[in-house]
Amino acid sequence: MPELPEVEALAGYLRERAVGRRVDRVEVAAISALKTYDPAPSALSGRAVVDARRHGKFLDVVVDGGVHLVVHLARAGWLHYREAFPSTTPLRPGKGPVALRVRLDDGSGFDLTEAGTQKKLAVYLVTDPAQVPGVAKLGPDALGADLPTFAERLRSRRGQVKGVLTDQAVLSGVGNAYSDEILHAAKLSPFAITDRLTDDQLAALHAATRAVLGDAVRRSLGQRAAELKGEKRSGLKVHARTGLPCPVCGDTVREVSFADSSLQYCPTCQTGGKPLADRRLSRLVR
Ligand SMILES: [Zn+2]
Repeated sequence: MPELPEVEALAGYLRERAVGRRVDRVEVAAISALKTYDPAPSALSGRAVVDARRHGKFLDVVVDGGVHLVVHLARAGWLHYREAFPSTTPLRPGKGPVALRVRLDDGSGFDLTEAGTQKKLAVYLVTDPAQVPGVAKLGPDALGADLPTFAERLRSRRGQVKGVLTDQAVLSGVGNAYSDEILHAAKLSPFAITDRLTDDQLAALHAATRAVLGDAVRRSLGQRAAELKGEKRSGLKVHARTGLPCPVCGDTVREVSFADSSLQYCPTCQTGGKPLADRRLSRLVR
């Protein structure tokens, strides 16, 4: 799932490549991905792309006249920039992974795609990004928040720190992968309870958030959209590395599984050497 660094890099790439170009036309192949009907996609035709921004994990392509194409890539969505499209034939609804195509006046453009069967990609055409419900409820940006704001936000919600850190209404931009990385860098258990965190632990969590996200943004910026996924994977220390050695201490990275997700952590770095209970396994045993 694209998180703050990848969406930031996609916005940066679009600012470099698409700003100044006019939209030739927008083709919608997955009607279910389009969450708004007014303005219609055809309203973008002839308008120039003037900016690309990020709100949390939402990408916002701004066109002339104050229309925003706001995209939430969800778990399996992605943006593919095309220097040229293979044909001028419009997309056929319901065929293939491309949900929406934006053609620009120089023959380039981008496809929004979604892999898999869970269709969660969401596209909104609005005149104000705050009209998108998910954008309206976003908390402060995880990378931009200073320590007092960060601490206040984390303490405002009592719960396991992993869940609170990925709650977009608390802080925006962090998802499953970077929260594993941030908690590892802060040497905190994913199950630590937020209102029991000490000032020192919160300061460490804040510093780790800035360091992990800042580093990922620096590595991602300037990368072409196609290279971002590999770049993200290469920087991970615990996320998606179950069974591999922790690069900090050499202990084996472990996993806790949930119904439709999992988290990874290092026992030596984060939980005093103790493995966390895997609820899926304990349910099987019971
Ligand atoms: Zn470790």
